[in-house]
Amino acid sequence: MSEVRNGATPARAGPRLLAGSPIAAEIRAGLTEDFARFNDRWGYAPTLAIVLVGADAPSAVYLRQILSTCEKVGVDGRLVEIGAEVTSEALCTEIERLSADPAVAGIIVQMPLPAHIPLRTVIDSIDPAKDIDGIHPRNAGLLSLGYEGFLPATAQASVEILKRSGIEIAGKRVVVVGRSNVVGKPAALLLIREHGTVTVLHSKTRDLAHHTRDAEILIVAAGRPGLVTGEMLSPGVVVVAVGINVVDDGNGGQKLVGDVDFESAKDVVAAITPVPGGVGPLTNALLLSHLLRAATDQAESGKRRAEAGTARAGVAR
Ligand code: NAP
Repeated sequence: MSEVRNGATPARAGPRLLAGSPIAAEIRAGLTEDFARFNDRWGYAPTLAIVLVGADAPSAVYLRQILSTCEKVGVDGRLVEIGAEVTSEALCTEIERLSADPAVAGIIVQMPLPAHIPLRTVIDSIDPAKDIDGIHPRNAGLLSLGYEGFLPATAQASVEILKRSGIEIAGKRVVVVGRSNVVGKPAALLLIREHGTVTVLHSKTRDLAHHTRDAEILIVAAGRPGLVTGEMLSPGVVVVAVGINVVDDGNGGQKLVGDVDFESAKDVVAAITPVPGGVGPLTNALLLSHLLRAATDQAESGKRRAEAGTARAGVAR
């Protein structure tokens, strides 16, 4: 027990911060070497195409980060900006054009899309081999069956940050707030794969706090600033705060805050990811590791096709 002097309560050291930035830096260092080797072998730097339709504040933050990560590791980050008034046919044609472009190894479509564009048609127009953020039904299906495919990077990052921080998932009561196809649902599937006992909460869940208090590990991906407060947590819980929200800072500017109210949570939790600097940087690093895999697969299958074509031409002669 800690010593109490002069009747004062000893200050709590504070929770362990699960920072994503150092883990991301380590992955990026490896990727920089891997992309240099790719360039030596194939003679080009692969392109990541980022499709942005219209613009909103969180997207701008995210795009700045991903483009700067591309630059750091030697990837050609290509921002494809499209006006918010685009028709869904024109948008799909643009994505199909990128899918057919041999220089483009991976495509991500920044969400949310304007309301008049059906998400499903856009998702279907991405070549699954270039769908490095795992939104195509083929990759989503592979994930749900437990087979190898491209994983949604944010969901993967929220699990990876636990694993790389040495936090055991197997057998734990894991609660996920959010059930979107890009974050909550794939995170839940990955946590089941890690043998967690998983509960998924959403906007129609009755008595959110009842469930969050049951969590030994809590993943919050709702996009609601301060949704989870300290009184909704049990002591010793490990929290992964995925949601990033841009809010007024009270001085006429803006700031980034998470879905978990850090001030009230910090005295209850055992460990928590910071916002910013938690899941976000790791997401970007993992995305680029998916890009490397996509680029390598495409370059090798292009070589095999070329060799098969040469062999056929030889037989025909
Ligand atoms: P989304 O599509 O809006 O989904 C939000 C989910 O949260 C939905 O399932 C929704 O429930 C649930 N939800 C909303 N309000 C709730 C409430 N009051 N109580 C319980 N559940 C509630 O958002 P998303 O794309 O999954 O993203 C979630 C957050 O993660 C956003 O803040 C986004 O910016 C952030 N994000 C971060 C990264 C990163 O790299 N760190 C990357 C992508 C996204 P229903 O299904 O019932 O509507």
